[in-house]
Amino acid sequence: MQLSFFNALTRQKESFVPIHPGKVGLYSCGPTVYSFVHIGNLRCYIFADILRRTLCYNGFDVMSVMNITDVGHLTDDADFGDDKMLVAMRREGKKAQDIAAFYTKAFFEDRDRVHIDPFDVYPRATEHIAEQMALIQKMETNGYTYQTSDGIYFDTSKCSDYGKLSGQKSEEKKAGARVGQGEKRSPTDFALWKFSPKGAQREMEWESPWGKGFPGWHVECSAMSAKYLGVPFDIHTGGEDLIPIHHENELAQTQGAENVLEANVWMHNAFLQIDGGKMSKSLGNVYQLQHLVDRGYDPLAFRYFCLSAQYRASLNFTFEALDAAQAALHKLYRLARDLSSPSGKADSQMEAKFHEAINDDLNTPRALAVMWEMFSSNLSSEQKSATLLHMDQVLGFGLHQVIGKPVEISEKVQRLADDRQKARQEKNWILSDELRDKISELGYQVEDMATGQRIQKKIE
Ligand code: AMP
Ligand code: ZN
Repeated sequence: MQLSFFNALTRQKESFVPIHPGKVGLYSCGPTVYSFVHIGNLRCYIFADILRRTLCYNGFDVMSVMNITDVGHLTDDADFGDDKMLVAMRREGKKAQDIAAFYTKAFFEDRDRVHIDPFDVYPRATEHIAEQMALIQKMETNGYTYQTSDGIYFDTSKCSDYGKLSGQKSEEKKAGARVGQGEKRSPTDFALWKFSPKGAQREMEWESPWGKGFPGWHVECSAMSAKYLGVPFDIHTGGEDLIPIHHENELAQTQGAENVLEANVWMHNAFLQIDGGKMSKSLGNVYQLQHLVDRGYDPLAFRYFCLSAQYRASLNFTFEALDAAQAALHKLYRLARDLSSPSGKADSQMEAKFHEAINDDLNTPRALAVMWEMFSSNLSSEQKSATLLHMDQVLGFGLHQVIGKPVEISEKVQRLADDRQKARQEKNWILSDELRDKISELGYQVEDMATGQRIQKKIE
């Protein structure tokens, strides 16, 4: 079946053709591990997960790579400002290595809670310094670099098609550059290697052919994607904010070093907005997954919420929308529990409809609609189970844990739920919340419906 993706490079939806038949190399820009990821970042990684699952669903053998940035990402995109990791070190009074380890672990926990399947490799920038230096040396040999008093820079004027991803001409980009360019020859030029400040010791610095320092942020992605996937590789993903600088610069670097296109297809998710606007610390609306869990939401309700929009559509987060997603998810679990155990194959007609939807540039809302349509079709219960299980390879709601498995509630859980009902009738909200937590510890979730409480087994 045809598989098509919107490619930012060509600005059109194209039929996907892998470089090596049957195989796909996929690289996704990952987190900078200086703080917890927020739900906007998670939207981005859920998109990459749906993409990876869809490729597998289509029978491709996928090699997936997501970098972990633990050095070089500055607070300012124009090569000024502080390294985000050093900012975190000062904030938390810890070593960079410990900060990176802590937030990487937290990221993996969030990843698992929203059922993002692990990628094959998560290379760390600090573990690939030699590869980054080697790439810079190649660019240097090919005449793409110059030195200033604070580092080695990429000369974007040497790339005749610099700006091809964002569709901005170099002149427009220069006019759009936000800050002064220091000693850079052009505002679009960018740092490949930054020297450590004179006289000061940095925690993260390495000896290099150019002097002690650290790599620029963009270099890690070109160096690590080349190492694990070779260049060119098939698909590169990230959030839409990465197009004009980070991804443009990655393309330029690989062209400068290897004289090839880094990746054939570039895919980007639109941003998650909160209450119709930008997420920002000053507005206090930068939610992490844990904040949603603390409010009683199932992490997978957030996954369902993300899938309710296609990845290229902007998506507005509100708690009302999350309530609706959670209600839909729990309805799905209830219906799935009531089905018979799966037997036989997925229904070919329904499977084809689902497959067509997801292959159409990952149209998850359409795929979800096909799933609901399947429930109301006249397929047998066994066929529905088998078809649902098949669809869940892409949707990732963990339905194998619920299909055909009615909830068995132990006496202990039932007693706690009864006590909670009583506490609520007496308007003893503190006790009611305590009992909810106890029920949750036992692996169940209570929802308050107009008709009373409903108990669900949590999906891990
Ligand atoms: P960062 O840690 O800021 O580099 O972001 C990690 C990834 O999340 C990048 O691919 C960003 O483009 C993406 N991202 C950041 N904020 C959002 C958002 N609000 N919605 C969707 N994706 C985002
Ligand atoms: Zn990157």
